[in-house]
Amino acid sequence: MASRIALAHLPTPLEPAPRLAAALDMDADALWIKRDDCTGLAGGGNKARKLEYLCADALAQGCDALVTGGGRQSNHVRMTAGAANKLGLACTIVLSSDRPSLPAGNVVLDLVLAPDIVWAGRLGYAALEEAIEAAAARLRDEGRRPYAMPIGGASVVGAQGYVAAAAELRAQLADIDVVVVAVGSGGTQAGLAAGFGDHGKILGVDVGARPDTVEAVAHAAVAAARYAGLPDPVGEPQVFAGAVGPGYAVPTEEARAAVDLAARTEALRLDPVYTGKAMAGLLAARRQGRIERDTRTVFLHTGGVPALFAYADWVAGAGGGIGA
Ligand SMILES: *Cc1c(COP(=O)(O)O)cnc(C)c1O
Repeated sequence: MASRIALAHLPTPLEPAPRLAAALDMDADALWIKRDDCTGLAGGGNKARKLEYLCADALAQGCDALVTGGGRQSNHVRMTAGAANKLGLACTIVLSSDRPSLPAGNVVLDLVLAPDIVWAGRLGYAALEEAIEAAAARLRDEGRRPYAMPIGGASVVGAQGYVAAAAELRAQLADIDVVVVAVGSGGTQAGLAAGFGDHGKILGVDVGARPDTVEAVAHAAVAAARYAGLPDPVGEPQVFAGAVGPGYAVPTEEARAAVDLAARTEALRLDPVYTGKAMAGLLAARRQGRIERDTRTVFLHTGGVPALFAYADWVAGAGGGIGA
């Protein structure tokens, strides 16, 4: 078993969503929201669960600095900076972005949490992973002991957070048919698939963060299961690719409709980068009959609320979105 240190507020609530269910023509007790937006680490979100395992590993290895990276509105780097502060570790984050003239959303919180920020300019997924490694190498040259985490904390250690979350969820609700979740790096879906032992129970909604989502989830799920001492998950990763739109962090009309519907029925705060697209994927799956009226469905709310504040013009109806 992997070791963890407590950073998140757990267990997170599992709430029924009867008004949203009615809007989707679903039974009132068929739709549930797993509130991992309420994990409580510097604003919350799914990365808090991964960081409990990643930080335990970093401390066990005697590391003195956390290093990671992400897109400009990365929730993972924001929560990594928060975890570092709580643990008294140094922190370097690499952002695949130019420095914005006016910080917004997660960047505001990044500046307050005050990690060392490398503004790397727009990088592709693989180039950003290399930039994280390069930042760690520079620290090593300076005599530090960095702990480098991939984008999204999507290592086999980080995925253990969602192996454990699967058990938490199953203890809260019996007979779950499907968990719908946004897929970025893929670590969350992989951990859940490993924890449930069945890819068929998880419907990932791709948000376009990486080019090789299905392969990455398949590979990471096996690694996560073996690390946890569990059997390999059966089946193949279920990934819905129809909600990405023009690209990662580019908002879509479907995401806007989903953000509005969730807010107006259940007071849920979704975001344009991850959870709005994930909910748009759930709506599409319902329309297509992949989710039926009585399919016992859990929407995993992975957080991301701060990013909404970086898309104020989009919310105001002016289109675009400056956040990415
Ligand atoms: C990182 C993130 C995801 C995706 O999780 P992965 O494990 O990277 O696939 C989903 N939602 C939010 C809000 C996130 O920050």
